[in-house]
Amino acid sequence: MIDREKLEEQLSQLPLYMYHFFEPAQLEFSDRIRYICTAECPMYNTSWACPPAVGTLETCKNRCLGYRNCLLIGTIVEVRDIADIGETLATRPAHEDVTNQVRELFRQQGKEPYILSTESCHLCERCAWMDGQPCRFPEKMHPCVESHGINVIPLLESLGLEFQYGENIVTWYSLLFY
Ligand code: SF4
Repeated sequence: MIDREKLEEQLSQLPLYMYHFFEPAQLEFSDRIRYICTAECPMYNTSWACPPAVGTLETCKNRCLGYRNCLLIGTIVEVRDIADIGETLATRPAHEDVTNQVRELFRQQGKEPYILSTESCHLCERCAWMDGQPCRFPEKMHPCVESHGINVIPLLESLGLEFQYGENIVTWYSLLFY
């Protein structure tokens, strides 16, 4: 069992704009999200962190629903121009860093969470998936939330949160299942 009180005290010291515990059954898994991965994302079929490597939508859903609890964490940052993809993506590593810090908090309590985070994995210059090789850092890489067909917007709405907080505000989310 996680000592949630202790965890929350530690979470409150991290640069998160919010965190929420919820049950994975509250998540909406959407064929539409998977379709967007397949039809519109340039990362499709290029990484262990993306479809089809992460498995079918059904497999991903069952994986997530196999956990009893989930922690949603979010970070927020203002950029000069959100349409500047380079500037927006430059804010991502800080979110990934916080996500890994939260993972360490779970590890300190003897739990290894299953993590979904942002975008695709960029730990290696060329993903081993492209060469038919196993992932080089499976313990470090986090598939993105959307790769598992999760529509995060209904979840945020049910928690009274916004997806967008303003014109040039970037919000990043991670899910930690445990
Ligand atoms: S750690 Fe490397 S091999 Fe594994 S998913 Fe990321 S880029 Fe691909």
